[in-house]
Amino acid sequence: MILDWDYKQVQEYVASLGEKSFRAKQLFEACVCLKNLDEISNLPKELKEKIKNDYFSYEVAAHLHSKDGTQKVAIKLADGSVIESVLLKYKYGYTVCVSTQVGCRMGCAFCASTLNGLVRNLTAGEILLQVLFFNRILGGTLKERKVTNVVLMGCGEPLDNYDNVAKFLRLISAKEGLNISQRNISLSTCGLVPNIYKLADDGFCVTLTISLHAPNDQLRKTIMPIANAYSLEDVLKACDHYFDKTGRRICFEYSLIGGVNDTDECINQLAKLLRGRSCHVNLIPLNTVKEKGLVGSTRKRGYVLAEKLESLGISATVRRTMGEDIEGACGQLRNRVEGENR
Ligand code: SAH
Repeated sequence: MILDWDYKQVQEYVASLGEKSFRAKQLFEACVCLKNLDEISNLPKELKEKIKNDYFSYEVAAHLHSKDGTQKVAIKLADGSVIESVLLKYKYGYTVCVSTQVGCRMGCAFCASTLNGLVRNLTAGEILLQVLFFNRILGGTLKERKVTNVVLMGCGEPLDNYDNVAKFLRLISAKEGLNISQRNISLSTCGLVPNIYKLADDGFCVTLTISLHAPNDQLRKTIMPIANAYSLEDVLKACDHYFDKTGRRICFEYSLIGGVNDTDECINQLAKLLRGRSCHVNLIPLNTVKEKGLVGSTRKRGYVLAEKLESLGISATVRRTMGEDIEGACGQLRNRVEGENR
C-alpha cells in the first residue's frame, strides 16, 4: 500500500512503472494530502489505472464532534477492520492520537481496547493514514501542515508492533513528508522492556510515556498482566537507559482507580519509586468502561494526589479530560461500531 512507502520508495515505484520522475512528486504529494484517485487532477487516467491496486482506500464508519473541539473517527480499513483515532485541540495546536493495532493483547483490567484481544497489527501506512486524515480535515497540505503533535495512545500496544511503529515514526518525521519532529511525538507503552531498549538504541527520541498505574509489582500484577513478565525495576532501568540515550524526560501515566491505586500509601510509594528521576507523572481519573466494573477516582482526589506528589518532589499534573461526550476512553468507539456491525 502506497502509504507504507517513503518518498524514495515512491520514486522507485514510479520508475518501475516506466513513468517520468516528476510523477513521483505529484503522487507523493497527493498521498500526503490523502486525495482519492479521482481527486487528483494532475495525473493521467492511464497512470491512475496502473496504480489503483497499490493506492490506499478506507471508509469513515463514524465521525463524532465533541463540544470541546475533540473529534473522534472510526476508520474502516481495506480489510474491513475498524480502528479509531482522536483529534485534540490545544492552545498550541492540534494533536492526533493514533491506534497502532486492531485490538490489543495486553489484557489491562481497565482498558476497552483489549476486550476482544488482538486482531492484527497495523502497517506503518495505516498508522500514518490516521494523521493524514485529520490533517486533511483541518485543511492541511504537504507545505502547510496543521497537525502539530502525535501521540501513540490509541488502541493497541505500540511496542508490540515495533517494526511497523518504527517505520511510521520515520515516515511521519521525514523531511519530504509531514515532517513532524520526534520531539512532538509521544509513544505510550505498558512497558515491553526489550523494545524500550531497542527504541533508544535505534536512535529514536520521541517522548517515552510509561503506563505505570501501580507503585509496586504486587498491585500492578492485579491490573496489568505485563507486570508478570517485567518488574517495575526492569521497566525503570529501561527508562533510565532511554533517558541516558535521548536526554528526554520520561512521562509516567497513572490512571486513578477508586480504592485500588489512589490511596495515600500508594502515592507515597510512587514518590519513593520515582525519586531522583527526571520525569513527570500524569494522573488520569479512570474513564469508566461499562464492561470492566472499575470506577475512576474523582478529579478532586486527583488534584489532592498531584499536590502530594509535588510536595514529595515529583512533578505531577491531572490530565484534562476531553471528548467525554464522544466516548473518550480507548477502544470505546471502535467497540460500539463493531457491535453495531455484528
Ligand atoms: N498500550 C499503550 C497505549 C494505550 S492507551 C499503553 O498501555 O500505554 C493510553 C493510556 O490510556 C494508557 O496509559 C492506558 O493504560 C490508559 N487507559 C486505558 N484505558 C483507560 C481508561 N479506561 N481510563 C483511563 N486510562 C485508560
